[in-house]
Amino acid sequence: MYPNSFRYFRPSTLEEASATLTELGDDAKALAGGQSLIPLMKLRLSSPSALVDLNFIPDSSYIRRSNGTIHFGAMTRHADIENSEIASRVPILHDCAAGIADSQVRNRGTIGGSVAEADPSGDWGPVLLTLDTEVHVIGPSSSRTIGLPEFFLDAYTTALAPGELVKEISVNAPPKNTAGAYVAFKRCAPVYASASAAVSLTVEDGACSAARILLGCVGLTAIRASEAEAALIGKQLTAKTIETAAEAAMAAADPQSDMRGSTEYKRALVRVLVKRAIHIAARRARGEHVEAGHEYVGRI
Ligand SMILES: Cc1cc2nc3c(=O)[nH]c(=O)nc-3n(C[C@H](O)[C@H](O)[C@H](O)COP(=O)(O)OP(=O)(O)OC[C@H]3O[C@@H](n4cnc5c(N)ncnc54)[C@H](O)[C@@H]3O)c2cc1C
Repeated sequence: MYPNSFRYFRPSTLEEASATLTELGDDAKALAGGQSLIPLMKLRLSSPSALVDLNFIPDSSYIRRSNGTIHFGAMTRHADIENSEIASRVPILHDCAAGIADSQVRNRGTIGGSVAEADPSGDWGPVLLTLDTEVHVIGPSSSRTIGLPEFFLDAYTTALAPGELVKEISVNAPPKNTAGAYVAFKRCAPVYASASAAVSLTVEDGACSAARILLGCVGLTAIRASEAEAALIGKQLTAKTIETAAEAAMAAADPQSDMRGSTEYKRALVRVLVKRAIHIAARRARGEHVEAGHEYVGRI
């Protein structure tokens, strides 16, 4: 189906984009990669009166590193992150970027659009929440920085005020002996995951001194599995402690039954994915190179 008709604006700065959105009001939308917005418009589930296209704004797509922080321009495509040498130094970023949908979607979809969309099934939410991540926002009259946990308010709901745009996402590179892993389970490439687990661990002398465990696609937002983290912190990473953590993560999951699987099936997936992500994160924290990312039906 064709979308309803809309007006089209092509600003040349983010400031101009924000001013245009403010002037046009709630009915207007920013257009980034269009990989969430355009399908919704074609299904007529969204019918904005105007689109403000961010694709022609210079210097809105970049990956830079300064003083241990990685900066992503909002318009940076998933594929650019997948292929970035800077991002590959934080392997969990590569785990995520390399498995989002298929190469067509990764070549268009942006990190800024994903974070702004706040889709409960999106891959970036749980991954970026295991890291110290900030969202830099530009508005009609001022700019501000929001910690990612405060940015996500609910499913499809963020702290962005009317007219505000995501300008940049910055991530602190993890400290020594710390590494993460992201494992998502999918039925096939061009669909969202059925469940996912993002884990960051600090491992010293075989013991875990810090942990963050986030679950994706099994709640209205990414779920932080605090009990699972507590089951690991201060402990040696034995099969028993990892199993206890995985069971606590399973209890924290709050999945809905849908075409991707029943509630029970998704909880069982969480247990497997969390265990797998803990094992990989622990090996990476010890300096090993381990491949991780999306898993597909028939390979788990
Ligand atoms: C077939 C298919 C499969 C997919 N599978 C996955 C998947 O497995 N995992 C996954 O994570 N994603 C998946 N996606 C979504 C994809 O990652 C999108 O790229 C992403 O959700 C939105 O990014 P976008 O740049 O396309 O944003 P758009 O679709 O252009 O915009 C999305 C929303 O964000 C707003 N917006 C965009 N940029 C900004 C900004 N800078 N500031 C403020 N608001 C902004 C828009 O107004 C709109 O409301 C899939 C998409 C498709 C079509």
